Amino acid sequence: MRTIVSVPKETVPGEQRVALVPELVPRLTEAGLEVAVQSGAGELAGFFDEGYEAKGARLEAEVFHKADILLKVQPPTINEISRMKEDSVLICFLQPYTNATAITALAERQITAFSMELMPRITRAQPMDALSAMSTVAGYKAVLVAASRLPKFFPLLMTAAGTVTPARVFVIGAGVAGLQAIGTAKRLGAVVEAYDTRPAVKEQVESLGAKFAELGLAARDAEDKSGYAKAQSEDFYEKQQEMMSKYVAAADVVIPTALVPGQRAPILITEEMVHGMRPGSVILDLAAEQGGNCALTEPGREIVRHGVVIIGAINLPSTIPFHASEMYARTVTNYLVHLLKDGRLHLDLEDELTRGPLVTHQGEVVHEIVKGRL
Ligand code: NAD
Repeated sequence: MRTIVSVPKETVPGEQRVALVPELVPRLTEAGLEVAVQSGAGELAGFFDEGYEAKGARLEAEVFHKADILLKVQPPTINEISRMKEDSVLICFLQPYTNATAITALAERQITAFSMELMPRITRAQPMDALSAMSTVAGYKAVLVAASRLPKFFPLLMTAAGTVTPARVFVIGAGVAGLQAIGTAKRLGAVVEAYDTRPAVKEQVESLGAKFAELGLAARDAEDKSGYAKAQSEDFYEKQQEMMSKYVAAADVVIPTALVPGQRAPILITEEMVHGMRPGSVILDLAAEQGGNCALTEPGREIVRHGVVIIGAINLPSTIPFHASEMYARTVTNYLVHLLKDGRLHLDLEDELTRGPLVTHQGEVVHEIVKGRL
């Protein structure tokens, strides 16, 4: 009997992505797997049933109960977990630090669950880096949303009706999403400034044609060995708020993206700083899912405070579902192929790539940090 890998339709409201796209079905069948896709699974992303069938997948009305391996985007609900086979394997975004109920349920059901968020940042894992892939989508879309809310043009225009000055965009946090936002805002013609606590980023910001904001702050121990930012002291954040005030006040659009893995996002824009902005300006808070970088952000909502539009963006990648699905599916497929040997799952727990994202296995929560949070 061949191992069955299945892909359900996502059920979280607003989720339009799908974990596998038709072009990748042959990679899995050639690796010896049988592929079953729930009817309609890719429809909202623009991938239709016929496309999957033509590439060798089987369509089914219900896929949870037969899957040996389940590929998903969002974490499964408790109901979905109860329909999964015991001893099966799950690969998805598991939201490992905030999803205790589902993680406990997965362990109880003896499911081996891998969380794509926990992929180690090593060169070998780059083709499996789903977070970076989705950050690229989010950074791009953030600029488009902010530009469409701004009552101004982005570019400099010289017309018979007069000259239009370009919009000023300030990006806080120049990681994957921030750099994509900088590039997109530049392409739309804005004047862009950016800041990050990791000094290594300055050159990357400048190579995109943006200006690095020199705040005169020296972050202690700015990054860990995987390139992620480390949390700073409250004193540091207060100083950062103070030093950034003039950049925030001068901006038409502020896009904060600053995250510290596994923690609430640091508050970098206070209410007072919002008050200091021009009415009509826009803050698009890309850190909203981790609580937000702006003190006023309400995750999942667009509000107006002191005349400033504050958008607590949630799941922007789902709003570009075609390419976001394609990119996510590539990372997941690459990871699954890594876990296979001769058409069967072969889990080498000595391998950092296998072990790093592993959250539950043989009835236990095996990831130390996740276990500590339960
Ligand atoms: P992230 O999403 O965790 O954080 C976003 C950005 O916020 C980071 O650049 C971080 O330094 C910054 N930040 C945190 N606190 C801040 C503060 N107080 N003020 C301003 N900025 C703050 O990070 P990310 O985008 O996923 O990745 C960060 C970096 O990691 C990338 O730029 C890249 O160099 C590296 N990376 C390496 C690999 C790999 O080796 N496989 C993969 C992806 C990314």
